Amino acid sequence: MSEIVHSIDTIAAIATPQAAGGLGVIRISGPDALLVASRVFSPVGEPPLTGSAGYRAYYGKVTDNETVLDEAVCLVFRAPRSYTGEDTAELSLHGGLYLLRRALGAVFNAGARPAEPGEFTKRAFLNGRIGLSEAEAVMGLISAHGEQAAAAALNALEGSLSREINAVAKDIIAVSAQLAAWVDYPDEDIEDISAQTMKQTFLRAKDALDILLNSFDMGQAVTQGVSAAIVGRPNVGKSTLMNLLTGFDRSIVTPYAGTTRDAVEETVTLGNVALRLTDTAGLRETDDPVERVGVELAMKKLQRASLVLAVFDGSDELTADDIRLLEACKGKLTVAVINKTDLPGKLDTAPVAEAAAELVEMSAASGKGLDRLCAAVERACGTDRFDPCAAMLTTERQRDCCKRAVRWLDEGIDALNNAVTLDAVSVCADACIEALFELTGEKASESVVNEVFARFCVGK
Ligand code: GDP
Repeated sequence: MSEIVHSIDTIAAIATPQAAGGLGVIRISGPDALLVASRVFSPVGEPPLTGSAGYRAYYGKVTDNETVLDEAVCLVFRAPRSYTGEDTAELSLHGGLYLLRRALGAVFNAGARPAEPGEFTKRAFLNGRIGLSEAEAVMGLISAHGEQAAAAALNALEGSLSREINAVAKDIIAVSAQLAAWVDYPDEDIEDISAQTMKQTFLRAKDALDILLNSFDMGQAVTQGVSAAIVGRPNVGKSTLMNLLTGFDRSIVTPYAGTTRDAVEETVTLGNVALRLTDTAGLRETDDPVERVGVELAMKKLQRASLVLAVFDGSDELTADDIRLLEACKGKLTVAVINKTDLPGKLDTAPVAEAAAELVEMSAASGKGLDRLCAAVERACGTDRFDPCAAMLTTERQRDCCKRAVRWLDEGIDALNNAVTLDAVSVCADACIEALFELTGEKASESVVNEVFARFCVGK
């Protein structure tokens, strides 16, 4: 558990989205949570909430200065068995924004202060309910775009990553303990420390961490999504493909070349990959100054995108514009889409297949072949091997800690190979453990912790 000291006051926030809804929830947490809640909520036919043993739902009325605002249900949780580890009351009101904000104002007048972003989850961390990587998983769960991202986040929330990291740390701690004994009592007849055994432990730890590091890109593709651009010359079917993927007429589809002049953006889930997708103006040589701006923007989008969906018209021969596109895709992760397979084929696909990582024949108009496109995108992003149950690094912070741990293991292995004194090996082992514990949050500094929670929304 973290050693960071924190002041314990009572906080409150709206935990549901800031929009009208069927229900809206105000969360109150802290030592005075039930006192604060009892000042704004009176249970019908029950004694005040302050006497509640917890784990109960109460029906009653929410009031502000004796004006009844709403009928509500209040859930009561008693420390330490709540999300935050503190006494908590959750008021479920009817979800109007005015009503929720007014009730929240009443809660503040009753003695709570506004919660900072992520403060409920931060308290769960500070009270030892969850580790730092689990807190990050909560964030992942909230922002998950699809089933697999949600499954991976839930798996992390249940501790898959911290279990893996703790297992590695345990081995290194055993080495460190032996080394510490040797450093403190070099003349004593301490259990023989074999350099070979230590090296094997370090190598094993490095293998485990390398697997996690390799999982990062795949995890990013599933949890954060991949920036992708749909490119191609005019009229090959880019907008039709975009509309097929987004499921509605987001782009303007017309039979006239050069109609999509701006870049249109949308997040779509293809297989298990969330694509942050841009449909661009058609790439072609043009004298029209307005169209040229669109073409230049499309080229920039292509260069910046992590994945390119390069669209070609299968019912037409390869044109000079198509060849220029293939040139532009060099060095980019490209999935080539040969569109309009419902029409007689004329395109020589060989040069396209050579330039792209994957080639898919489909009809954007009918949707035939969409399943092949999903599979090709998964293969191109490497997520076809994605296992949501495996431990995985999901944030840059976790990756940075993991990389540092590996660097210290490398230094330790070097020191052992070069028969440098065991003191040096001991320093490396301790620094490695520190990086691993920073990852799980067991030894994270206050600024690291603050940074993790600053990215949360208020009410979580
Ligand atoms: P863009 O300029 O590349 O965005 O192309 P559009 O999506 O606007 O499509 C240009 C024309 O091709 C339109 O008339 C579409 O209906 C047509 N089109 C798009 N996809 C297909 C397809 O799979 N089969 C056929 N036959 N026509 C298509």
